[in-house]
Amino acid sequence: MLKAIISDIHGNLSALSAVLDKLKEKNPDEIICCGDVVGYGAEPSECISLVMGNEINCVGGNHDKTVIDDYPIENLNFAAQQGVDYTKKVITSEERTFLETSPYVLKQDLAWFVHGSLYEPENFWYLNSYSALARDFELMLETNLLFVGHTHVPGIYMYKAENLYKVNESEVMLKDDVKYIINVGSVGQPRDRDSRAAYALYDTKKRHVKIFRVEYDIESTQERIRSAGLPEILATRLGSGW
Ligand code: ZN
Repeated sequence: MLKAIISDIHGNLSALSAVLDKLKEKNPDEIICCGDVVGYGAEPSECISLVMGNEINCVGGNHDKTVIDDYPIENLNFAAQQGVDYTKKVITSEERTFLETSPYVLKQDLAWFVHGSLYEPENFWYLNSYSALARDFELMLETNLLFVGHTHVPGIYMYKAENLYKVNESEVMLKDDVKYIINVGSVGQPRDRDSRAAYALYDTKKRHVKIFRVEYDIESTQERIRSAGLPEILATRLGSGW
């Protein structure tokens, strides 16, 4: 089975459409989203309806859960708070229900999917340090494979005999005696200085995972963020991918 994994769309319709167009060529059996369909961007409503229309299985992210008042808005920075307020105003009640019903953890075909971390998934810890990654690896008892988003920085991490390594490539062949955490990066607001949208493909039969990048129309996305009255920084940062 071929699974596509996306994350952190953040109301960026142009980036989401570019990824879904590319996925039409790759023809995955299913698409899973590691959370944050909304927040930051100007088209949260359009993004939720595209996610629903494509039957994409989603876990909830911190922005998604803040929009439905399930996570404290004080935990977000000022620009992110503006994005949440804007999202609250423009989404429909059906779209709100979608955010309300998304689980914190998804488990299927020997892989787990969360937004931030397996440790207290509802608290959205960042897997951006050795200790945070090691803590999650230690919790991975029923599975060897965990997909996450949240940091907006793609990366493949391995854990064997209490040794943790970062894979230098954007792909990996999975081995049975090794645990893996795959950060699939962000569709709508990449932060690794590569402005292209990110997504991953997981071939469950070949046991192969690869992270891909796709170009999208950044300028028109920036224009829509400005016309929506959202903070300028949310437009600017898309240009350099940070
Ligand atoms: Zn995010």
